[in-house]
Amino acid sequence: MQYGLTDEQEMIARTVQSFVEKEIYPHEALVERTGEVPTEISQEIKKKTLDLGFYACNFPESVGCAGLNHMDFALVERELGRGSMALNHFFGRPQNILMACEGEQIERYLMPAVRGERMDALAMTEPGAGSDIRGMKCAAVPDGGDWVVNGSKHFISGADHADFIIVFIATGEDQTPKGPKKRITAFLVDRGTPGFTIRDGYKSVSRSLL
Ligand SMILES: Cc1cc2nc3c(=O)[nH]c(=O)nc-3n(C[C@H](O)[C@H](O)[C@H](O)COP(=O)(O)OP(=O)(O)OC[C@H]3O[C@@H](n4cnc5c(N)ncnc54)[C@H](O)[C@@H]3O)c2cc1C
Repeated sequence: MQYGLTDEQEMIARTVQSFVEKEIYPHEALVERTGEVPTEISQEIKKKTLDLGFYACNFPESVGCAGLNHMDFALVERELGRGSMALNHFFGRPQNILMACEGEQIERYLMPAVRGERMDALAMTEPGAGSDIRGMKCAAVPDGGDWVVNGSKHFISGADHADFIIVFIATGEDQTPKGPKKRITAFLVDRGTPGFTIRDGYKSVSRSLL
């Protein structure tokens, strides 16, 4: 039995490896020094990923993407993991939960995200709720046809570049065989929504700069 990678998988890995070497590595020192990814660099990485046909490669062909299976996508992530996360963020891999979009959400969030027109981020973690996600304090209550949300999140990758955020929020309680459990609902929140602010992230310094 053959347990190695197929020729196609080797090609996927080599393609992404070469992308990281050519398009990510040259900018890493600048990003480490400044703590920011300049717009022209992020747009260039995004465009080259789109040209290569790898943008949103974790999404299926039914929405115009490469539709990689889990194994192939893991190879993509393995190779991207050799480079800066701040930069390889623009080798867009939108959150798969966007496939759950319905009705007008499809044209407003899912399709622009997989075409690289709008960037998403996913906000689940809070200062007091990481592994124990049901410990979250961020809560929403219905208000007419709307929802009013109170709370904050942290450690959100790509929040500074996101056009919209998929925010996980407590919306009540469900009775389960193991007793009452906090109900958690995913909300799509546009950047610019009144009362919604994105603050600067934590400063981190690589060991090579210490
Ligand atoms: C680079 C980076 C990017 C991230 N991006 C995002 C993002 O985009 N969106 C988002 O929502 N979050 C993001 N996170 C947050 C991440 O999901 C959380 O850090 C993670 O869920 C762990 O939560 P915590 O940091 O609060 O650690 P804690 O939950 O406090 O855990 C701390 C330690 O305690 C251990 N531990 C916890 N509970 C138990 C237990 N019951 N028994 C034994 N050991 C336990 C853990 O294994 C861990 O070692 C990111 C984090 C990092 C580092």
